Amino acid sequence: MTSDLRDLYQDVILDHGKRPRNARVIEGAAFVQPAYNPLCGDKGTLYLSMDSTGQKIADAAYVGHGCSISTASASIMTDFVRGKTRQEALRTFDLFHDMITAPPDEAIHRAVEDLGKLSVFSGVAEFPARVKCATLAWHALKAALTEGPAAGPVSTE
Ligand code: ZN
Repeated sequence: MTSDLRDLYQDVILDHGKRPRNARVIEGAAFVQPAYNPLCGDKGTLYLSMDSTGQKIADAAYVGHGCSISTASASIMTDFVRGKTRQEALRTFDLFHDMITAPPDEAIHRAVEDLGKLSVFSGVAEFPARVKCATLAWHALKAALTEGPAAGPVSTE
């Protein structure tokens, strides 16, 4: 990764970490999914509302506290999945997870090809200890969409 690109990605993460989008409660949400990363202390709750078919995410929000990577990831994720179907969202979970657990050189290629704005997290591949921070909100998303209200709180441990 070039240092310019690295700086740009870092700026985007810091911006979303300081001013998270969609940091609000959705009243009457279809899914309310708590999530916790004991390794870092990141903690939050994901809210999802679905469209009338129940297959498309109408709105997504996340309220939590934690490190800037976890906050930024939840912010960008909730923007990204709004309007996506369940299948599209779960497919994106897989792509995102594969990207940040790939060898760093490979991560950037996968990111640019498939993930658009989520590419800003490709640098996390260089810091395995932060992977759980970057995926916390995504694990909440997956649990909500695949297990529903029965999922119980998600923990990365
Ligand atoms: Zn963290």
